[in-house]
Amino acid sequence: LKRLRSGLSRSSSALTGGISAIFTKRKLDADTLEELEDILIQADLGVETAMAITGRLAQGRYDKEISVEDVRTILAEEVEKVLEPTARPLEIDLAKKPHVILVVGVNGTGKTTTIGKLSAKFAAEGRKVMLAAGDTFRAAAVEQLKIWGARTGAEVIARDTGADAAGLVFDAMKEAADKGVDVLLIDTAGRLQNRAELMAELEKVVRVIRKYDAEAPHSVLLTLDATTGQNAMNQVEIFGKTAGVTGLVMTKLDGTARGGILVAIAARHKMPVHFIGVGEGVDDLEPFTARDFARAIAE
Ligand code: GDP
Repeated sequence: LKRLRSGLSRSSSALTGGISAIFTKRKLDADTLEELEDILIQADLGVETAMAITGRLAQGRYDKEISVEDVRTILAEEVEKVLEPTARPLEIDLAKKPHVILVVGVNGTGKTTTIGKLSAKFAAEGRKVMLAAGDTFRAAAVEQLKIWGARTGAEVIARDTGADAAGLVFDAMKEAADKGVDVLLIDTAGRLQNRAELMAELEKVVRVIRKYDAEAPHSVLLTLDATTGQNAMNQVEIFGKTAGVTGLVMTKLDGTARGGILVAIAARHKMPVHFIGVGEGVDDLEPFTARDFARAIAE
């Protein structure tokens, strides 16, 4: 939490610095409201949310002096309200053996790392975990997953680079069922440069999983890199359509990133957010909580 907070406060320092600059002994008038709206939009919160917040601020306060603290408090409350319905833990159904989690997202957003962290978490809860190296395109991705498997005691199903991803995933489904695995985490490719091909491959992977188990994948997690800003919205839309995303993980909130886009995504898509990534280490995955996130944004 401390790391998240320092990351967010660093990232939102432009935002809070801006708020301080506007509201130092100033009235809440049309100009200040517009300036605040601009700051919130620049922080990726989205036009709708920005307008809702300034609208709430103006209620009963228009043309009166307002303190920076009041602005921050109301900002945190409003952001929390938007995020609250999306903050939901990832639920694992242990009646499913295995519970299949497909992890999708653009390359570099933290899929493999998040799988490693989740693998450690489930292993610590006493679950038998298996990892499938479904990004057969990149040798480095397969190697990384093998390292995470060794580190967390999970078997890794992998094939040579260039192998058919759907075939590998089918094998992994079978192996996991045969070996009584509790949670199967499947990594996927995320090269957006070749979007049509990638999406066709992802659709095929999902089809193959369903063919094996009509209820699977039970969870489809999309990793979003907090440093990408506005583009994360497109990723939610593209992967949502192709892979039927059920929940989000926002990574790299320990850096200089602004997590404001999550507020815009929550307002538009009401997509559950399960975890945040706050570092590269095995323990750097935290449950997403609306209040902490909102407070950190407004701090
Ligand atoms: P993938 O291509 O989507 O599988 O992404 P990777 O898992 O390989 O991650 C890309 C880079 O981001 C790696 O260097 C990771 O160590 C790093 N990374 C992933 N998650 C986080 C995070 O939460 N914080 C930080 N600082 N780095 C992260």
